[in-house]
Amino acid sequence: MGLTPLASCRILLGERPVPARSGVWRPLQMVFQDPYASLDPRMTVGRTVAEAIPRGRVPDRRAEVARLLALVDLDSARAAQYPAQLSGGQRQRVALARALAGRPEVIIADEITSALDVSIQGTVLNLVRDLRRRLGLSVLFISHNLAVVRYVADSIAVMYLGRIVEYGPTHQVLADPQHPYTRDLLAAIPGGTSYGDPPTGVADAEPADPHHPPPGCRYHPRCPIGPVARPDDPSRELCRTDEPLLTPARGWSPSPGGRTRPTRRGSRRSWAVRSRIGTPAC
Ligand code: SF4
Repeated sequence: MGLTPLASCRILLGERPVPARSGVWRPLQMVFQDPYASLDPRMTVGRTVAEAIPRGRVPDRRAEVARLLALVDLDSARAAQYPAQLSGGQRQRVALARALAGRPEVIIADEITSALDVSIQGTVLNLVRDLRRRLGLSVLFISHNLAVVRYVADSIAVMYLGRIVEYGPTHQVLADPQHPYTRDLLAAIPGGTSYGDPPTGVADAEPADPHHPPPGCRYHPRCPIGPVARPDDPSRELCRTDEPLLTPARGWSPSPGGRTRPTRRGSRRSWAVRSRIGTPAC
């Protein structure tokens, strides 16, 4: 995105570095959570979208703005309006049009429906699905609501305190969750699957400070099968000191023909943790 300089490493899309310069098509774009804060209230919709079109890349910027607005089901007459004249759903459509102006391959959609009324969340989700299909886009859709994720995503990675704890095809992860945190998220959906009440000791545990995560498994203070919930089980003490493996969905391999092996911390020690804890999630 180029919003902040890289402190280290590189960001690759496929096997190519993501270009940070303006004036070229941007393969990676972002739509932010709050459409009220992400649009400049002093700029018209047309200027907002036109500003994101790389210079010198299209002969008629006005026509390109109209094309982008049409892509997100907005009339070209909206180009003359200001964000204050639009509803939340319309603002989020403008934000999508602005993201599409760079002709991206991937859009990062960060909780893009959570600030919207429930009544219009569905139309924005339908638009995202439609854009994916029509433009061949990849969308990295970030949400804490697994009901929404189920609707838009083909694959899912469940993250807790900055660590991916489970990943795989959406239908498989949600039908057969292996990690306790995934089960907690599913239980939080209204009418979702309940996996029983959390045991005493973890029911009221606060989420840890992300800047100072606990050692070992980051989920251990809240885990219903971890050392806090099962103080009589000495094998659970490993959770306090050893970080568990990243666990692909059961029977799923991240690469065709590949093995379901860990992609990080894949040491023998990690495998040992997995077998000693004795749960497929860990
Ligand atoms: S490693 Fe331990 S605390 Fe963490 S999710 Fe697995 S069982 Fe729970």
